[in-house]
Amino acid sequence: MSAGDRSLLTRAAALDEADPLAWCADAFVPAGEGAQVVRAYLDGNSLGRPLRATAARLEHVVAHDWGTRLIRSWDEQWMDLPTRLGDRIGRVLLGAAPGQTVVADSTTVLLYKLVRAAMSAAPAGRTRIVLDSENFPTDRYVVAGIAAELGLELDWLHPDPAAGVRPEEVAAVVDERTALVVLSQVAYKSAWLADLPAITQIAHDAGALVLWDLCHSAGVVAADLDANQVDLAVGCSYKFLNGGPGAPAFAYVARRHLEAGMRQPIQGWMGHAQPFVMGPEHVPAPGIRSFISGTPAILGMAGIADTVDLAERAGLAAIRAKSVALTEFTIEAYDDVLAPRGVRLGTVREADRRGSHVSLGHDRFRQVVATLWGEHIVPDFREPDAIRLGLAPLSTRYTEAALAVTRIAELLDAS
Ligand SMILES: *Cc1c(COP(=O)(O)O)cnc(C)c1O
Repeated sequence: MSAGDRSLLTRAAALDEADPLAWCADAFVPAGEGAQVVRAYLDGNSLGRPLRATAARLEHVVAHDWGTRLIRSWDEQWMDLPTRLGDRIGRVLLGAAPGQTVVADSTTVLLYKLVRAAMSAAPAGRTRIVLDSENFPTDRYVVAGIAAELGLELDWLHPDPAAGVRPEEVAAVVDERTALVVLSQVAYKSAWLADLPAITQIAHDAGALVLWDLCHSAGVVAADLDANQVDLAVGCSYKFLNGGPGAPAFAYVARRHLEAGMRQPIQGWMGHAQPFVMGPEHVPAPGIRSFISGTPAILGMAGIADTVDLAERAGLAAIRAKSVALTEFTIEAYDDVLAPRGVRLGTVREADRRGSHVSLGHDRFRQVVATLWGEHIVPDFREPDAIRLGLAPLSTRYTEAALAVTRIAELLDAS
């Protein structure tokens, strides 16, 4: 290890020491012990780590709510959990007043439901959807599938892959034929933080609606959905919200659209005004409840609440400040030891246009990641040649980022 690498680890240790959110890391289940201990986890943007409180809560749900109260728990607490938890996510993380956010399904299914809902509300003649080639595959596939299903046209944006969609690119394509603009607030590969307020305004000026995917931003960056007059949003709960693998997603539908009667296409019994009447026809429940389709995933929702609690105690502004500091530190470390070794930076340098991960590129990264995983240093690999260092502000320490960058440099020298 060179003197430069050592100073990187020393600097990281000092930053951890001074970190006002350091106490949050202790709230997580320790990642292994002894020889199996994870030395650096840098994939909280793909699968967040579990909180200790979640282990206890799951045990309680199994032994008490499910094991003892049994079917009575539906009346006692489960029927309202999707909207109760949705309201909490909305208030603490999304800037959404109550009655507009619901927890249900997966992001993929909610994307389908919300895009279809937007299209069924679109005036005649608005038959085009704007989306971008750098968005997460499921977003592109779902929108393309609906376009084929309904005979719509797509306006594809092709942003810079190391950055993302800019307001002027959206302004150039929206017009009186545009029904909907579907974008991610933070790009899953580059971490580009889109200008959500400006793009929403541009879409509205053209008479179109916006659907923001918050999968890579919920829990780390504010969206201020109400203040920005966002129409629709979806997001994931197993990334920065630490809900656990397959935990259900959330959907936001602005009150004005709910009041205007916007409808989603999967009219199941759980979104019915009176599910237990089991009547002959579907009568939608009032408000956001009508966006539920089937029986909610109660066990999958248990973990989400714990991160919302922790995020509320930490404060979203402090979380965002640490996220910026972590990505800033990681990019400085990149400049020190990885740029000289030919590694490319796939994330922008402007902190206010960046989410909470850093993307790096090198032809040898497939092998490097395989070696790192064997050493219990866990970033993720994205085809064809990218490492993403996911920096989850509640759980990630600066020393974890420093260790990963240092080992990547050493492995590039060795191979
Ligand atoms: C993670 C992610 C998804 C995942 O969708 P699932 O239905 O949970 O598999 C979708 N969109 C984006 C932008 C994501 O980052």
